[in-house]
This record gives sequence, structure tokens and C-alpha cells, in this order.
Amino acid sequence: MNDILLDVRGLSKHFGGILALNEVSFSLEKGSVTSLIGPNGAGKTTFINVVTGIHAPDSGEIHFQGEDLAGMEAHLVASKGIGRTFQLVELFSSLNVLENAMVGRHSESHSGMLSCGFSLPSARKEEKRIRDEAMESLIMVGLEKRAPDPISKLPLGERKLVGVARALTMKPRFLMLDEPAGGLAAHEIKNLVELIHQLVSKGLTILVVEHNMPFIMSLSEKVIVLNEGAKIAEGPPQEVRTNEKVIKAYLGEEV
Ligand code: ATP
Repeated sequence: MNDILLDVRGLSKHFGGILALNEVSFSLEKGSVTSLIGPNGAGKTTFINVVTGIHAPDSGEIHFQGEDLAGMEAHLVASKGIGRTFQLVELFSSLNVLENAMVGRHSESHSGMLSCGFSLPSARKEEKRIRDEAMESLIMVGLEKRAPDPISKLPLGERKLVGVARALTMKPRFLMLDEPAGGLAAHEIKNLVELIHQLVSKGLTILVVEHNMPFIMSLSEKVIVLNEGAKIAEGPPQEVRTNEKVIKAYLGEEV
């Protein structure tokens, strides 16, 4: 089978004297779950930031559904069907859960959230459509009953799910989750694994950046390991776990 959704070739990015990504190449099959792991500072979040257009790469190609997105602006990358969540959940405390799940779509819509109430019927129709789609996302992550609640009432696990719902409202085909399990209790991690499987069954392709090894091992078909910006291993979880380069990179940590 060679049904590739994302094909990254020779991706490099430096910040001053730090080579955060060093000629990184790999591809992801449609409908797969892959984990991107590596010690602190390995370049994992930089990879997400470069693929989503937050940072332009110094060199390399990012082929997504046949188009090279390298250097494209973030809002255009999002419109191509690439979504992400953030390591530190970036939610608006002044908005309720549903409004937070709507935020991504408002940035691309013609009418701002606050102006909608005073504007034309077409803007109100658009507002309703976005609201309905955000509600569908909340149903998908199991938070529909929380829709009217202020964000401040939610525990960390649910806030992270609002971040996932927000990304889903953008209707991505490819979703990158940046440390989704960090700070979650065991039962919340179990629910997260189930959610990821559900999303894959709906046709999404997922890349997870994580440090939680049991979570990674239970979830991923493939694991890619970065160290000091370079890919040092790629393969099935059990194979990567016993790879000598990986063990050395994590020296002193449990893999
Ligand atoms: P962690 O697991 O700790 O989140 P990571 O693998 O996600 O780490 P990155 O955050 O991608 O690593 O960082 C890779 C390197 O690039 C680090 O040395 C970091 O300090 C540096 N870096 C990342 N973003 C920037 C930036 N915007 N400006 C300067 N240096 C940066």
C-alpha cells in the first residue's frame, strides 16, 4: 500500500546557532497514527510549527496531497486541511466552551464573532453554521454538555479536549497533537486513545508528539524519533524501543 498523505523531504530549520530541524524526511500514510518522539529540545514542536506555517523552513519540502506547502502562510496551510493542538492549551478564558471550539473558523470567516449579532442575515447564517460545526466537534470529544460552561470551570483534561474540538471544527484531514496526554489522569488517557481511534476511523491521519511512552506504544503504528533536530529512528514501536541510537539519546530516561 502506498497511499501517502504527507511526505516531508529534507526539512531544516535553525534559530540562531541552533539547528532545530536537520534534514528531516519521512512520510505518513493516510489513516495512520504516528508518534513523533525525542528528548527535550529534539525539534518536535518546531516540526509542527514548520509544517503548519508558523515558521518557514530554511530548506526542504512538505508535500501534502500532492502540493508543496513549504513556506506557505499558516491560515492557508489550515485551509488545506492541516490542524494542530498546542502543548500549552491556548483557550480564551472570557469565552465559553462552545465559543472556544468556534475560534478557528472565525479567524477565516468574513464576519467577526462579536459583529455577527448586529450584521446581515448572511453573516448570522454563517455564524450558525460555524456554531453547529463546533457543536459537532464537541460531541466528537464528548464535551457537548459542557458547551455553555465558562472555560475556567473545566479541569485540564477537558481543556485539552476543547483544544482538540477547536482543531476539529476546522475539518482537518491531518491532525497533529502536541503532548495531548501531558498532565492527564490514567482514565483520561484511556479516553484519549479511544478518541484518536475514532478520529482515524472517520478518515483522519494523526501525528502525536508525546513523552508518555505507554500511551505512544499503545497508540502508534509507527514511531519516529528526533534527536538534536535529526531523525535517528523510524519504525514500529517495539522495534524503535530497542534501537540502540534511541536508547542512547534517552540515556538516563526510561524508554
Ligand atoms: P520539548 O519536548 O521540550 O517540547 P521539542 O522537541 O518540542 O522539545 P523544540 O521546542 O522544537 O523541541 O525546540 C528545538 C530547539 O529549537 C530547542 O533548542 C529550542 O530552544 C529551539 N527553539 C524552538 N523554537 C524556537 C524559537 N522560536 N526561537 C529560538 N529557538 C527556538
